[in-house]
Amino acid sequence: ELTPELARAESLIREVDDFPSQGILFRDITPLLADARAFRATVDALIAPFLGTFDVVAGLEARGFLFASAAAYTANAGLMPIRKAGKLPRPAAAVDYSLEYGVAMVEAHDDFPRGSRVLLIDDVLATGGTLAAAHKLIERLGYTAAGTAVLFEIADLGGRDTLNDPLLHTVFNG
Ligand code: AMP
Repeated sequence: ELTPELARAESLIREVDDFPSQGILFRDITPLLADARAFRATVDALIAPFLGTFDVVAGLEARGFLFASAAAYTANAGLMPIRKAGKLPRPAAAVDYSLEYGVAMVEAHDDFPRGSRVLLIDDVLATGGTLAAAHKLIERLGYTAAGTAVLFEIADLGGRDTLNDPLLHTVFNG
């Protein structure tokens, strides 16, 4: 069901064994970014189901920024960087979540009107911990989630269930 353009874009996601650690199959999106048509088709496909339903695009640090920024520009929406702890000068809210080893935290500013409709974007949905924390952050700031869009879902990790967003959209099927 992928268009030929998107099928080609998917083929440009590079699989790298044992990065960043042993046993991880890393999905490297830089060859996709390097290809103008593939990048454009992917950004368009990320937002297509949500057009008209969001005011803001939130991108998750760091690879989510690359797609969220282009998506916001294309959709004439504002851009919200959701960052790792300690990067923003005046975080309005923070949500911590657990990783396989240790904990992490996401933070954001509150530079949008309350009730803004926010589309969340990241490259890969793995365990879903990061996007689930980002959803809590959006709620805590008084915004409404308009949905979640990712390029790629690692289905075995159950991220879809952890995230539990009925408006989850994945561009490539894995
Ligand atoms: P998670 O919170 O487990 O869903 O992890 C999601 C975050 O980790 C995303 O920001 C992804 O960019 C990154 N990530 C996790 N697993 C992979 C993978 N196999 N390849 C590329 N990125 C990954």
